[in-house]
Amino acid sequence: DSVFSNVARAPEDPILGVTVAYNNDPSPVKINLGVGAYRTEEGKPLVLDVVRKAEQQLVNDPSRVKEYIPIVGISDFNKLSAKLILGADSPAITESRVTTVQCLSGTGSLRVGAEFLKTHYHQSVIYIPKPTWGNHPKVFNLAGLSVEYFRYYDPATRGLDFKGLLEDLGAAPSGAIVLLHACAHNPTGVDPTSEQWEQIRQLMRSKSLLPFFDSAYQGFASGSLDTDAQSVRTFVADGGECLIAQSYAKNMGLYGERVGALSIVCKSADVASKVESQVKLVVRPMYSSPPIHGASIVATILKSSDMYNNWTIELKEMADRIKSMRQQLFEAIQARGTPGDWSHIIKQIGMFTFTGLNKEQVEFMTKEFHIYMTSDGRISMAGLSSKTVPHLADAMHAAVT
Ligand code: PLP
Repeated sequence: DSVFSNVARAPEDPILGVTVAYNNDPSPVKINLGVGAYRTEEGKPLVLDVVRKAEQQLVNDPSRVKEYIPIVGISDFNKLSAKLILGADSPAITESRVTTVQCLSGTGSLRVGAEFLKTHYHQSVIYIPKPTWGNHPKVFNLAGLSVEYFRYYDPATRGLDFKGLLEDLGAAPSGAIVLLHACAHNPTGVDPTSEQWEQIRQLMRSKSLLPFFDSAYQGFASGSLDTDAQSVRTFVADGGECLIAQSYAKNMGLYGERVGALSIVCKSADVASKVESQVKLVVRPMYSSPPIHGASIVATILKSSDMYNNWTIELKEMADRIKSMRQQLFEAIQARGTPGDWSHIIKQIGMFTFTGLNKEQVEFMTKEFHIYMTSDGRISMAGLSSKTVPHLADAMHAAVT
């Protein structure tokens, strides 16, 4: 008998499980709207031209070796990542008040930040939006933080519950950590306006709440890297402290390369360097040092003004295709005379639309139309194409009538 015979089977991950079910469906009309990864109009994964070019350059450089890199990762990558999210002229950078550590994509950056906070910050409560990305509560719980929710989404308006958000953060204990999606909130596609961000900032600073930004979609929401970083930049402009987890999975299409960065913006250069020394103690026993390849690609692109420009063009093309899918789906639903107000499809932003379809309607669409999505009714706009929009619109019409 195995010493592991008492191990119970764990449930499939609710998001990754959607793809497992999709793969098992033989129907030729099936559509997978569960994955959070960009697809072309032909439904294929996309490697950016600029990424191919950077890889070629790296492969052809005979001076490159496979030595270990430092615990904190590639120095150029870290500096350029901080510049990308904070802005080239950020005082936090010029005053050396920010420490940046290369981590394993967005998830790894969140986890390293959370482990650091657990040991070195006086508050162990983290407030996360309701709803949020399904992995957030698990990452923070396992790091030893206790998770509380603040109201975020209002099902009645399919928009932001701004009053509830202010009430809940206003009632949070002083010093509590608050997880904020920098842009393109997942799963709702609902972001605060810049005026609302300013009110959130004032409230949080007045209560000494510590912002922890999750930036997984910079450039993907609006098509502009600067516009999508505004929320973070207004918090950094006031001189206060915050953490930022950056991912290059979506905006550079480097999903499986696992490239990301954790930045901690501090009040002084002295504090920042002490903080970095402690983050190294978090990383060393976990995985010693990060991998080379993906971060080298990113550094190569961010270092060259030509490649950087090419990247912004390809990034905008992805964002624009997603926006056009929103428009096409909205129009297809209007054309069918489907009851209800569907304007949230074009109002929401980023990779996902939170359709408002309930669990039963989602099950119906999977069973009758072979359309796969998470049970909360979230659909990935990046998984749609002009060819598949009519089938989805038919399914949504049938599900609500
Ligand atoms: N945060 C949010 C809100 C996400 O949607 C995702 C990916 O879906 C991530 C973080 C982390 O992704 P990764 O670890 O692949 O960078």
